Amino acid sequence: MSQLISDDFRSLARAMAVTIEDNAQRLTDLDSAIGDGDHGANMKRGFNAVVGELDQIAAKPLPDALKAAGMKLVMTVGGASGPLAGTFFMTLGKELPEDFDRAGFVAAYEKAVDAVAARGKSHTGQKTMLDVLYPMLEVLRQGGDADAVAARAEEAADATIQMLATRGRASFLGERSIGHMDPGAASVALLARAAARTLNTQGGA
Ligand code: ADP
Ligand code: MG
Repeated sequence: MSQLISDDFRSLARAMAVTIEDNAQRLTDLDSAIGDGDHGANMKRGFNAVVGELDQIAAKPLPDALKAAGMKLVMTVGGASGPLAGTFFMTLGKELPEDFDRAGFVAAYEKAVDAVAARGKSHTGQKTMLDVLYPMLEVLRQGGDADAVAARAEEAADATIQMLATRGRASFLGERSIGHMDPGAASVALLARAAARTLNTQGGA
């Protein structure tokens, strides 16, 4: 994984932006059902902004590139999800050594997810993106590959459908939040799948 260099970072960022763009309407529809209908537009604005500055961002060493991408997301996504998605990538960049192995990546990922939980004052079981991010951590810890992580992410996003939201805008709906997938959970699953597809194509991690 330590050979994850500028080209891989570019491909990953582009693939993430494309999947968000392709699914923006679906994310917005999910957020219309239990939130305020801006999640697709928020995420699309943010990931497109990262891709818009990809030359400058990807020229940096990977940890700095991740931090810069995270900061860009904080500045452009907005809503509750902007600071949370931004915190994830900023912390990943802060915790990832320039030359890292699998264990180093898993440790940095764990710190990044914990930072999202701290920022959101939230934990698993509240029907948020954390209900996908933490199950992904479990698979990473067990040695699962990128496909296994993405498959678990999709399963975990599906599992948010029957959950009661107790954090974020959807919590205002109480029981009526049950029966809809959490939009943030859906976008994390999309990003995980896009990352797995990209890493497989490149024969990387
Ligand atoms: P907003 O709710 O401000 O309109 P978005 O629609 O962009 O922001 O994002 C909503 C998503 O953010 C939710 O689906 C949920 O996954 C996530 N989210 C919101 N609040 C929190 C929180 N406190 N902790 C973790 N995730 C959260
Ligand atoms: Mg919203």
